[in-house]
Amino acid sequence: MATHDVLVVGGGLSGLALACKAARAGRRVTVLEAAPRIGGCFHSHRSPDGHWFEMGAHTAYNSYGGFLELAEAAGVVSRLRVRGPQRARFGLLREGRYEWLTPAKILLRLGWLEAALHAPLGILRGKRGRSMRRYVEGLVGPRNYARLFGPFFAAVPSQCADDFPAEGPGSLFKKRPRRADYPRSFGFEGGLQAVLDGLAALPGVTVETGAEVASLRRDGAGWVATTVDGRRFESLLAALATPPDVAARLLALEPPAAAAAAARIRTVVVESLGVVLPRERCWLPELAFLVPVDDLFHSVVTRDPFPDPARRAFVFHFKPGIARETRLARMAEVLRVAPQDLADIVEQRLVLPAPAADHAARVAAFDRALAGAPLAVVGNWFDGLAIEDCVQRAFAEWARIAAVPRPRSAEARTAGIDVPAITAPG
Ligand SMILES: Cc1cc2nc3c(=O)[nH]c(=O)nc-3n(C[C@H](O)[C@H](O)[C@H](O)COP(=O)(O)OP(=O)(O)OC[C@H]3O[C@@H](n4cnc5c(N)ncnc54)[C@H](O)[C@@H]3O)c2cc1C
Repeated sequence: MATHDVLVVGGGLSGLALACKAARAGRRVTVLEAAPRIGGCFHSHRSPDGHWFEMGAHTAYNSYGGFLELAEAAGVVSRLRVRGPQRARFGLLREGRYEWLTPAKILLRLGWLEAALHAPLGILRGKRGRSMRRYVEGLVGPRNYARLFGPFFAAVPSQCADDFPAEGPGSLFKKRPRRADYPRSFGFEGGLQAVLDGLAALPGVTVETGAEVASLRRDGAGWVATTVDGRRFESLLAALATPPDVAARLLALEPPAAAAAAARIRTVVVESLGVVLPRERCWLPELAFLVPVDDLFHSVVTRDPFPDPARRAFVFHFKPGIARETRLARMAEVLRVAPQDLADIVEQRLVLPAPAADHAARVAAFDRALAGAPLAVVGNWFDGLAIEDCVQRAFAEWARIAAVPRPRSAEARTAGIDVPAITAPG
């Protein structure tokens, strides 16, 4: 007999978004997270004195309606912080030279003759079936793309985005309705992870960290997950909320066609190093991020949009496979400090999907293979990497598997749970 209503494998945004929906529906949810902390790509590093900075996701927008629902359910809306004017200041680092830019200055840097020659045909061709590079090159020309757009697009998903689809599943930029009752872009005091911390503490949700799932298999009407240290968890429903390579491994037994489809989603590794420096030691002007052209790292994200009077934080998102010493030396060079001044380095290794132009077809093949299974599979490798893409997939997958009825005994056990309602957008 299942001891949990729903097991969720993976305690990042996708897993906790699904857990929130399930708990709100009165189910007892257990989230199994391999790492010692929840969050995955949500990683707000916090010092004992309350200073924080984002090693991973750093910005939410008022077009993230599902994410705002979660923030409301998590009870953290009062901690929302508007991003300051530094949000619109960037640096471009090319061949050792720094350019300080704003959106308006980027437009001024554009080769307008090249853009004018390309735009009419590019607009006519549209986005359908095109990669980011082919679409944007079609609009502004290949030189403008290589000089400006390519490096900025690569900074968003911490990888070259040339082959990303220009629209639909896997695309980087999507139009969504905005909630006028929230600021356009924002974070939270203590970092975005505050939202996930609130979800993990919801009544009906139990989180086990340090619980790396080694296998997930059908057992009668339910599921059994076994962790690498031999713990066994049984449930009626299950959800996989891991990167695609892990999902492919765990789906090998059930359903195997879905495992094969998940294995076709490519991934990249991002190795990040974060550091806090006293304000007086920093030479860089205040800026949201620095984008290099052809360097060891894809971007440097700062905490400057939420300025601290005494300290600044810089997170370098490096390409994979570069020796730690080499990465530290490059950080020191860019920040113009001695390598030994880089104390208390925070390190992180993440796996991200690398969607190709045919991503929609790959996702459709996966969903066909999964159809009918009482298993939700969620993550940033379906609709896209953005926070809202993950949340919408989690909501839709919960709706699909929630139709599975609960045994009467389970209903009786959870009858006393007081789960806060998620308020509808105002
Ligand atoms: C550096 C960076 C910056 C970003 N910035 C933004 C931003 O500003 N705005 C935005 O909209 N999006 C941003 N994103 C994207 C967004 O944050 C992610 O796509 C999203 O958080 C992914 O959530 P997830 O739960 O699907 O996956 P993950 O966060 O990868 O979570 C998967 C979880 O599964 C766990 N896991 C893996 N294997 C197992 C196992 N066997 N058993 C148990 N648990 C397991 C992992 O430890 C992890 O916690 C950023 C991403 C990165 C990497």
